[in-house]
Amino acid sequence: MKKLLIIIDAQNDFVTGTLGSKEAEATAPVIAKVMEYAEDRGFMFVHTVDTHDNSYFDTQEGKNLPVAHCMWDSSGKAIIKEARTDMKSRIIEKSTFGTLSWLNNSDLFHDVSDIYMCGFCTDICVIANFQILKAMCPEIPITIISDACAGSTPELHEAALKVMKACQARVKTLEEIKLEEQEFFVAGRGCGKTITSMAQVVSKAFDIPFEDAYETIWNAFYNSKEET
Ligand SMILES: [Zn+2]
Repeated sequence: MKKLLIIIDAQNDFVTGTLGSKEAEATAPVIAKVMEYAEDRGFMFVHTVDTHDNSYFDTQEGKNLPVAHCMWDSSGKAIIKEARTDMKSRIIEKSTFGTLSWLNNSDLFHDVSDIYMCGFCTDICVIANFQILKAMCPEIPITIISDACAGSTPELHEAALKVMKACQARVKTLEEIKLEEQEFFVAGRGCGKTITSMAQVVSKAFDIPFEDAYETIWNAFYNSKEET
């Protein structure tokens, strides 16, 4: 079974361009960490790329949002460097929020155990494509990597996360996903969530970050189990 990372519209215009925001700029480094995480674990990649032409202002989107963005021949359309990968990635161009192009790419979902999503904007294109994928692949769990998404406003970002959670998305930060993965390994070795509890105590007692305490204890435990 494979895991699939879908990066929605991680393009210059949504970060530093005509529809950019400081929240999106702050999110870009997290997307870079997500890419590294997924590359290390052999995920498959898909990028959606918002793409408009000169007819944009005649469309419903253009009439309601008269801001030129992601024009087909512009640098604003380019994928931000933080979201690029040397791995193979399928590029899906779209001129609407959610795209029915997923239907022509249904081979992507064969033998997939988990779908992860990040990108922009949480309350428009992320949620629109989440809903389409949820309808297409109801049996594949979808995780929204919350700190690797930004919305058109911080409030709408939070609202969209709540709505997706209500529609059974797993909404997790990248750190939560990593911790969950470690707990899964540890649970498999018979000590359940003990390490989380120990790390909480150690982190408080020695005033060190929880993640550092967790990693130290986990490494010690893991290594000792390997030796015995
Ligand atoms: Zn657009």
